[in-house]
Formats: sequence, structure tokens, C-alpha cells
Amino acid sequence: MKSLPYFCRGEVIRGFGRGSKELGIPTANFSDSVVDNLPADISTGIYYGWACVGNGDVHKMVMSIGWNPYYKNTKKSMETHVIHTFKEDFYGEVLSVVMVGYIRPERSYDSLEALIAAINNDIEEAKVNLELAEHLKLREDNFFTSISSTGLPTTTTASTSQTIMNGH
Ligand code: ADP
Ligand code: MG
Repeated sequence: MKSLPYFCRGEVIRGFGRGSKELGIPTANFSDSVVDNLPADISTGIYYGWACVGNGDVHKMVMSIGWNPYYKNTKKSMETHVIHTFKEDFYGEVLSVVMVGYIRPERSYDSLEALIAAINNDIEEAKVNLELAEHLKLREDNFFTSISSTGLPTTTTASTSQTIMNGH
């Protein structure tokens, strides 16, 4: 995929209560402005990369891009599971991510156990792959280090902060 690595940031909105948190795998949903800017060559499926909430630490992440059932599968959703234990929810905060690599396409599972096992495999694959030097260096990217105390980039204004920062 030519658009990888892909940098984006935007507000965390409420999802549709599909119970990710109950499975132990909460997924932070991006606002429509981020989803609508996704390049056409970024297909649905599971990605790995780096993520940071507000101006917090950069953590490993896995992201699912899929068709959103709430909009009768006409609209995509981007859901990020940050591989870190947070003390509190962060709805309304700015999430910054860089999608680094693609793991697999989406698929349906026969059981909840099979789904959870697949996600845990994705998390393990993300953890291992992100240790490669070429991926580790993205963690230190200016994209993350130039975030102010408001969680917005210091080099752009708030009104542009939710637009795609790719190719910066
Ligand atoms: P929703 O349907 O609203 O997305 P989830 O059950 O998927 O609900 O939980 C997602 C929310 O959980 C996020 O928006 C965020 O506020 C919170 N959260 C806490 N820890 C994490 C984490 N490690 N990764 C992603 N979201 C997290
Ligand atoms: Mg979610």
C-alpha cells in the first residue's frame, strides 16, 4: 500500500457499544473527518502502528478499518486499540496515530473465543513487527514530538489539526 506509513490525528468519538471493552480490547473510534480523509488505497482490515493520546506517551497499537454497520455498511470506521492500560477513558481527546503496516483482511468468526484469539494474535504480531528499526524510528517522528499540552500540533492551528497529516 503506497500510502503507508500513514499519519493521522483526530478526536476520539463514542462507538456503537459493540462491547469491545467487555472483551478486554477497547477500541477508540476516530471522528468522521479522519475516516473521510482516508486514501482509497488503504483497504479494510487490520493494521499496526504507533499511537498517542493528547500529548501523552507513544504506544504500540493495532487498528481495524471496517465497514460501519451503524451506517448500513456505507461508511468506514477506524478503531484503534492502544496497547497500553489507561487509567481512564479518553473520549473527546485527540488521538494521533501512524499506521505502519498491514496485518490481514477482516473476516468473521464462528465464536467470540475465535475473535478474541485472532485479535490477540494481531497484538502479538504488532508488538514484534514494531521492534524493527525502520518502524521504531517512526515512534520518534516529529508528528508525535511536536504535540502541545492541548494534544494539538504546535505547528498547525486547531482548525487544521483534524485533517490528515500524511506526507508531512
Ligand atoms: P466504543 O464503542 O465507545 O468505542 P469501546 O468499548 O470500544 O467503546 O471502548 C473504547 C474507549 O475506551 C475509547 O474511546 C477510550 O476512551 C477507552 N480506552 C481505554 N483504554 C483504551 C485502549 N487501551 N485503547 C483504546 N481505547 C481505550
Ligand atoms: Mg470502540
